Amino acid sequence: MHYISTRGSAPVLTFEQAMLTGLARDGGLYVPETVPVMTPAEIAALAGLSYEEIAFRVMQPFIGDTFTDDQFKALIAQAYAGFGHAARAPLKQLAPNHFLLELFHGPTLAFKDFAMQLIGQLFQASLSRSGDRVTIVGATSGDTGSAAIEAFRGLSNVDVFILFPHGRVSEVQRRQMTTPADANVHAIAVDGDFDTCQGLLKDMFNDFAFRDRVRLAGVNSINWARVLAQVVYYFSAAVSLGAPHRLVSFTVPTGNFGDIFAGYIARKMGLPIEQLVIATNQNDILHRCLTTGVYQTESVHPSISPSMDIQVSSNFERALFDAYGRDGAAVAQLMDELKAQGAFTVSQGALQALREVFASGRVSEDETRAEIARTLSASGELLCPHSAVGVAVGEQHLGATPMITLATAHPAKFPDAVEAATGVRPGLPPRMADLFERTERVTRMANDRQALQALILERTGA
Ligand SMILES: *Cc1c(COP(=O)(O)O)cnc(C)c1O
Repeated sequence: MHYISTRGSAPVLTFEQAMLTGLARDGGLYVPETVPVMTPAEIAALAGLSYEEIAFRVMQPFIGDTFTDDQFKALIAQAYAGFGHAARAPLKQLAPNHFLLELFHGPTLAFKDFAMQLIGQLFQASLSRSGDRVTIVGATSGDTGSAAIEAFRGLSNVDVFILFPHGRVSEVQRRQMTTPADANVHAIAVDGDFDTCQGLLKDMFNDFAFRDRVRLAGVNSINWARVLAQVVYYFSAAVSLGAPHRLVSFTVPTGNFGDIFAGYIARKMGLPIEQLVIATNQNDILHRCLTTGVYQTESVHPSISPSMDIQVSSNFERALFDAYGRDGAAVAQLMDELKAQGAFTVSQGALQALREVFASGRVSEDETRAEIARTLSASGELLCPHSAVGVAVGEQHLGATPMITLATAHPAKFPDAVEAATGVRPGLPPRMADLFERTERVTRMANDRQALQALILERTGA
């Protein structure tokens, strides 16, 4: 299995190389050269299997000979052993044809644990085999950072630096990043927003001398291995509702487009998905783009669903690559326009291709709060604000096909917003009850790439 860049001019890599690299050297994102297809019989055979067994069968064709089957099964088992639910990704019914896929039973209570816990295992297995050391740098709007720290803390061949926007993550999110005491964990509060953090990260990856010196590795949602891990729960959920004999649709609270792109891959693999609905908060670049054809950045408006407060939705590039007939030069040109003018227009043909798969919706802050209250009274479920954005948009798209909305975080990660909407303050699960007593450790920095690189060199001794 080979991986190619969406901008067409970076080296072709194996799964293992693409995983360890993250961002391609031409600025693009790695995608599989061809997507393996599962037959209806193979999909039907997933019914009733454990999450881990489904994960093995869905992901194995993408990893080639990186690991033996037994090794890969053992890594998957370890990745999900720390989850607080036997089903890993349980499905609940919300309304007659509307289901909620709970993706918040991992160690940091957000769906990012599905990918990050697995990637931690894969990195460790790969690096201990080669004897290499890497520096992981991630940018986060909250949940990626804690999930990465939880997955990589204490590993001997990895340093992990996480950049988060100072003052713009919830207290639970911040404490999950700043309280691990492991020496290889470095939480950095940057003055700016998520896009500032993501910009710093991209610029560091484009400084090849620095990148090679510290052996920079990226675990942001652009990392192909993360997308791959997320493909699994689309299969497990759809099969529970009768796929491949019955169509399903998904609504996905969307920020960087990583989670919903995993659904797109599941569909390309043969899973009968009718619609993939992009749900955005007031930071609605994707909804505007699908509606008007113009992808135009605006400034970020902080919301009660902060993990979706972004304007540049990095993984959308992967969908554009397919929509443009896998023409890397065309994608590179769009991205140049975006950098120069803050906008580009999607061609008519590409827009049509996107609309065949994706629908979209956007909800305001008031609508999000109202949805949290409505769902609690209608079905007794307490939603986090991100999941509420999804449920509200999912409701708008209900039809004859069962709708599965992804619940991306536990309500206790965002207790203030949930309490304001419902009067009910969600509590942390017992295993995290002492989070507010643990000591915090964090470095505050300006938006200054040179200073950041100096800090990374000093801390890693590279
Ligand atoms: C990261 C995140 C999202 C957005 O996911 P993308 O893959 O970036 O689209 C939504 N909800 C929560 C809780 C998140 O942590």
